[in-house]
Amino acid sequence: MDAFTFYNPTKLIFGQGKTESLADELVVYDRNVLLVYGGGSIKNNGLYDKVRQQLEYAGCNVTELAGVEPNPRLTTVQKGIDLCKEHAIGFILAVGGGSVIDATKAIAVGARYDGDIWDIITKKELAEDALPFGTILTLAATGSEMNSGSVITNWETHQKIGWGCIFTFPNFSILDPENTVSVPKDQTVYGIVDMMTHVLEAYFHPAENTPLQDRICESILTTVIEAAPDLLDNLDDVDLRETILYSGTMALNGITQMGARGDWGSHNLEHAVSAVSDIPHAGGLAILFPHWMRHSVDVNPERGAQLAQRVFGVDRSGKEDRDVALEGINKLASFWTALGAPTTLSEYNITEDQLDEMADIASANGIFGNYHKIGRPEALEILKQAL
Ligand code: NAP
Ligand code: FE
Repeated sequence: MDAFTFYNPTKLIFGQGKTESLADELVVYDRNVLLVYGGGSIKNNGLYDKVRQQLEYAGCNVTELAGVEPNPRLTTVQKGIDLCKEHAIGFILAVGGGSVIDATKAIAVGARYDGDIWDIITKKELAEDALPFGTILTLAATGSEMNSGSVITNWETHQKIGWGCIFTFPNFSILDPENTVSVPKDQTVYGIVDMMTHVLEAYFHPAENTPLQDRICESILTTVIEAAPDLLDNLDDVDLRETILYSGTMALNGITQMGARGDWGSHNLEHAVSAVSDIPHAGGLAILFPHWMRHSVDVNPERGAQLAQRVFGVDRSGKEDRDVALEGINKLASFWTALGAPTTLSEYNITEDQLDEMADIASANGIFGNYHKIGRPEALEILKQAL
């Protein structure tokens, strides 16, 4: 394996009823709080009222930024930064899914930066500070609650960029499975696909001698594969919600990538797709990932065969590794289709004439992918297959 340093300072507060511990967490921070949330789901499910009550118990003065959109936009981030500066905000509380948390990370850095936050997101400048922030996660998917990643879309330039730094780990995250019970079926499916692709991105890495990393990834995948169909039949089941919530966090909090850096090319490609056509992140991934896997099968057929056998139960006896790996990819794609995930870009009304721009964006910084290094022609090929 590769040498590594593991750093993750996020305090994880997990369990049914843990929303009630928010006030206790808040008391050590500045009382001038910016409350960030999305399009209203927290008002419909009652979480907003619970959070306001906890903020009151902690004696906070609250300013609100509502309406963070899925695939959060730079314009919304800028609004949040302006509010922080105007109201001398000292702490930010994000209540929502990955989009709300990702936007909050950019606001936290932007609030302590005099220049243009886009320069930090595009890595032209380095962040030197940030406001502290906490999260209450409402959707199991991205892992943003316990990592430093953030994905922001600049709709003017059609760029959707993943970035992050040492200041963008949440100070704390409260994960209460009850807050995810109201997530509708389609978003639940997207979340499941997103967390599985995070593990798969990590699994396809160029490092050698990674037996424990492989088993950790396989455990998360098999746990999700076992729980997901039951959950989709019983969306109110808090125990199943709990299993999926925990899986989503473990899928992208750094643990799967100790000593092995995964590929992440499919995420790059999906960001290019949703920079051109504003589709759900995991909808794009469900479509693209199996095509990327087929395209990459010859990089290390043994790795693909190991995944197929251990996670999808494919029998390897008497077969070539490549064939076993391809069987596993078909099983993965069928699993996602059975859950109700999309299978073609056309389902989102994406047309062939948009693919060139997507391939341009995906390869704007040259070759990408850490396991299978690909460029524009391969990106275009995968997009065409996915159409
Ligand atoms: P999301 O965009 O945060 O939310 C999707 C939808 O789910 C929204 O309409 C939201 O409604 C709704 N929702 C959230 N919680 C709900 C609840 N409890 N009940 C009912 N509806 C609820 O989804 P996400 O998948 O978590 O985040 C996607 C974004 O994260 C993308 O931009 C993606 O690129 C990025 N991402 C980040 C990372 C990372 O590590 N940081 C990793 C992967 C992807 P409201 O707006 O009304 O709340
Ligand atoms: Fe993702």
